Amino acid sequence: MAQMKWWGWGDEGVAFTHEDKPALAPFIHRHIGLDVTTSSSTHTGFEALDLPEPTLPPALRADLEAAVGEQYVSADPLDRLVRARGKCLRDLVRHRAGDIGRIPDVVVRPGSEDDLTAILRAALEADAVVIPFGGGTNISGSLEAPDGETRPVVSVDVARMDRVLEIDEGSGIARVQPGVLGPSLEAQLNARGWTIGHFPDSFTHSTLGGWIATRSSGMQSDKYGDIADLTRAVRVVTPTGTLVTRPVPHTSTGPSVREMVLGSEGRLGIISEATVHVHRVPEKRVILGYLFPDWERALAAMHDIAASDAAPSVTRVSDSWETQFSFATRKDPTPIDRAKSKALTTYLERRRGYDLERMCLAFIGYEGTKDHVARQRKLAGKIVSTHGGLGIGASPGELYDQKKFDTPYIRDWLLDRGALADVSETSAPWTLLPVVYANATTAARQAFADLGVRGYVMCHLSHSYHAGACLYFTFAFVPSGTREPIEEYDVVKTAIQQSFVDSGATLSHHHAVGTEHAQWLEQDISAPGVAMLQALFDGIDPGANLNPGKIVGSHRSRV
Ligand SMILES: Cc1cc2nc3c(=O)[nH]c(=O)nc-3n(C[C@H](O)[C@H](O)[C@H](O)COP(=O)(O)OP(=O)(O)OC[C@H]3O[C@@H](n4cnc5c(N)ncnc54)[C@H](O)[C@@H]3O)c2cc1C
Repeated sequence: MAQMKWWGWGDEGVAFTHEDKPALAPFIHRHIGLDVTTSSSTHTGFEALDLPEPTLPPALRADLEAAVGEQYVSADPLDRLVRARGKCLRDLVRHRAGDIGRIPDVVVRPGSEDDLTAILRAALEADAVVIPFGGGTNISGSLEAPDGETRPVVSVDVARMDRVLEIDEGSGIARVQPGVLGPSLEAQLNARGWTIGHFPDSFTHSTLGGWIATRSSGMQSDKYGDIADLTRAVRVVTPTGTLVTRPVPHTSTGPSVREMVLGSEGRLGIISEATVHVHRVPEKRVILGYLFPDWERALAAMHDIAASDAAPSVTRVSDSWETQFSFATRKDPTPIDRAKSKALTTYLERRRGYDLERMCLAFIGYEGTKDHVARQRKLAGKIVSTHGGLGIGASPGELYDQKKFDTPYIRDWLLDRGALADVSETSAPWTLLPVVYANATTAARQAFADLGVRGYVMCHLSHSYHAGACLYFTFAFVPSGTREPIEEYDVVKTAIQQSFVDSGATLSHHHAVGTEHAQWLEQDISAPGVAMLQALFDGIDPGANLNPGKIVGSHRSRV
């Protein structure tokens, strides 16, 4: 399989473009003063990079080759570079600038759990650092070896372990290897009529093992659950042997060892297999678009839907800022589209009293039998109307569904043009969501003002639960040019993250801790909570060989 770009998102040759979206360039210029029609900066070429020679003791190399076979042990510079970091903004900015950090000395590609056991044994004997690698898509600094690490660094890429091993059709669970990428997992399950129902926006390039190790959430989590709910059991190769939990629906065996593995970011061992929930591929799947007069009423509607008998698969609503951005990314509309759109806006303004500047776009997804979908639509539709909302049919939802795996390319497109864009996401109880929203957007705008830059911040609610929901913020700005861009990025990102924990929300709903969010962990889970995690990692891994410095025990590495 082709390698992911080392300097950006996704596949070589695939890129975002504004050229088929006539409203986008003026929109961006209006809001952050960026002229996107000229591309000013680009990344350092691979040939110009100063890649250090690997420091791999011959005995360790021989043991790794004995473990997996010579052809699966690579010190190739590109192999090592691609696995050095994930895809957070800091990773991209540094890589693009030719600052590649402490890249792994070797990439090992196991084919089985026995291979993993042999790799770990060899690495621990040599006092090497072991960093499991899935798809490399994390955005929390979960992969990078600590700066100045003097021990050999072994990246364990589990991509060869990519099979669905067994489907227990009677129980709706499947045993799956950790290295399977989203599309391959779905293809293997779909071939037998099943789906996992886990579709993060990074689906095309992320793996089951990575999802588990970061506590990931997919778009349809309202129906299927987050990866933490979907993962019934794990097998993990640890320094003290293979940890095995049973795929039971619930258990009373003390603190959950399965939960300890969820979100462990490679600090407890290498996940070699998981048993996950699978569901029959639904007869019907539809995502419908809705409009709300404002954010307050949109939030209230989402809360009422979560508290009702309706069970949609997706609930997602954008604030007015994200709504306007979404409209600006529409492809060139046909004359009929334009006429329809004009008729709709006239109707909304004149008949419904909408202020188009405050209007919010929502998507609600329904899955199941035709009858189930019809009933759900009716239930949710009634709640939407109660809050002044209006259904606008299937086409906006279809468009969103199609383009969601393309949007990750936008960040590179903006970086090419000298702008920084990133995300911060959190979750909070329903009653706190309006406060969290107000505090985070105020914090971001204050940070832009303090820096003297023009910035844009927008938000959507997604992943609804009984007790609350996730708020997902996206921000972008053009750096002032007076400081290092990444320093200015830190000011904005820190302001938003700090506002989360100060408002009673969590440091991340589904992007994990890594090194990027580690500084807020104690405020989030309290000092005894951090001490408990530290004791767990120290107990399992006394030599700090397993992905050291992630979650606890390190400060974020800075440019
Ligand atoms: C554009 C974009 C969109 C995204 N959208 C979403 C989204 O919608 N939802 C979401 O949840 N996340 C999202 N993410 C974040 C990211 O995709 C997730 O964190 C994902 O779960 C990482 O999986 P991966 O296979 O790429 O893991 P990697 O990045 O390779 O690794 C992540 C961590 O898991 C560890 N790890 C990986 N495999 C194993 C294993 N077998 N055993 C033990 N540890 C392991 C690694 O050591 C590392 O600490 C997005 C990221 C980007 C860049």
